Amino acid sequence: MTLPLPKRRLQNSLLRWFAINLRDLPWRKNRTPYRVWLAEVMLQQTRVDQAIGYYTRFLEHFPTIRALAAAPLRDVLKQWEGLGYYTRARHLHAAAKRIVAKHGGRFPRELSDIRALPGIGPYSAAAIGSLAFGHNAATLDGNIIRVLSRLTALEDDVTKLRARKKLQALANELLPKGRAGEFNEALMELGATVCTPRKPLCAVCPLKKFCRAFAEGDPEQYPRKTRKKKAPHKHVGAAVVVNKSGRILIAQRQETSMLGGLWEFPGGKQESDETIEQCIARELKEEMGIDIAVGNHLITVRHAFSHFTMDLHAHACRLLRGRPRAIHCADWRWVTLDEMDQYPFGRADQQIIAHLRIQRQK
Ligand code: SF4
Repeated sequence: MTLPLPKRRLQNSLLRWFAINLRDLPWRKNRTPYRVWLAEVMLQQTRVDQAIGYYTRFLEHFPTIRALAAAPLRDVLKQWEGLGYYTRARHLHAAAKRIVAKHGGRFPRELSDIRALPGIGPYSAAAIGSLAFGHNAATLDGNIIRVLSRLTALEDDVTKLRARKKLQALANELLPKGRAGEFNEALMELGATVCTPRKPLCAVCPLKKFCRAFAEGDPEQYPRKTRKKKAPHKHVGAAVVVNKSGRILIAQRQETSMLGGLWEFPGGKQESDETIEQCIARELKEEMGIDIAVGNHLITVRHAFSHFTMDLHAHACRLLRGRPRAIHCADWRWVTLDEMDQYPFGRADQQIIAHLRIQRQK
């Protein structure tokens, strides 16, 4: 891929702009490899404004890699609660353990060692390596892909490997040796604040004189992507089973499942030939080996995951027979509403908890 203009001018324009316009963000202070790594992982699928609070709290709880490695996974997931994409938290925890075991608790310096950590792909390794250790490695993230594909008016579908290779080659070529971290970060910052997906602020963009999409007059048509299929919608039943002493049954999701390690109100997906009440009763029998009476509807929570949406229907339930067993769940507990704060739940289940607390006050 040929560059629109000499790269030196483009580099200088961007770096000058970044020096003046960089936002004051917590991960830009006291930079250590651990802090760079945590920010990189958090920002993979989370907006900056949402990540700031989580980032600060996470570091308060786990100030060092050793502290993170020594913590129970439940505590790590608790600090991640509500951020979504929980595999990131599990990988962080596993990687911290590995860093302690293999690298004496110091974040590894070599790109190949960084890349070997759980949850770190080539782009993340390049971002961490350049920002934390000054490696001359170009990274690609969603923001950079958008900026580069607009700069070059790239016609290829950026979800395809062929386009990624072209963009990586372009990013490599553009990278100013010795200032890789700063340049990577500047491209990300430009994508996040100026070259935004909708209504890019081309008038104030330091790269507009190099930008083919701007010259064409319609930058929003880049990056080119094949349209995603509409995500399927599911109905899921959840049981709020209360025992004689007023405690509520919660179950831990299996490690290998989506939201693995998190806790939930037990239940599952409604089949086509059953009511939601029948679904809840069947799921509790299959998952935990107990018979329950399914009573009043409590709340329906609508939630969107990356690949499907769901309506989660919670019902008040009563235990009829049996003692819970972890058949298709990792663990279970009878807990009070207040004790639920000690367990990490996904967003949808947190809304059920909030509803139960409001009901308690009535
Ligand atoms: S000129 Fe517009 S489209 Fe081109 S890089 Fe700048 S903000 Fe993006």
